[in-house]
Amino acid sequence: MWGKKYKKLAVALTCADWRLHQRKVDLNARLTNFLGVHGVDLICMPGPDGLRKPGREAEWQVAVAQIGLLIGVHAPHAVVVLGHQRCAGHPVNDADHDTDVAAVARALKAVTGFSGPIKAAVAAYRSDTAWDLKAIAEY
Ligand SMILES: [Zn+2]
Repeated sequence: MWGKKYKKLAVALTCADWRLHQRKVDLNARLTNFLGVHGVDLICMPGPDGLRKPGREAEWQVAVAQIGLLIGVHAPHAVVVLGHQRCAGHPVNDADHDTDVAAVARALKAVTGFSGPIKAAVAAYRSDTAWDLKAIAEY
């Protein structure tokens, strides 16, 4: 695959919420720094840290398939699941975001068999344009 030899990449499963993807936030560049890579593939779904909850099995299967594809073609250095506070797609309290994002990262490790780190992180809310990336767990 193009770029594989030259670029250290990562795959991020994060939320579709526009607030994370606006220019002022520059999430992709921040994830690149956060993960110590050259570029980050994004898979965006509402409330990704809720994907192990009952009723979301079909979305979970889609996420697993998309991550599996990107692992196969880009040989990423790491995978990260990034949830965020005040999420409409997974409306739980801040502590539950931390717990649930770790559960999704752990489940992804088990189902993908990915040999590198699968990290869990949360974007902590300061304002719609200011989010702090908080590392939660690594599997
Ligand atoms: Zn969200």
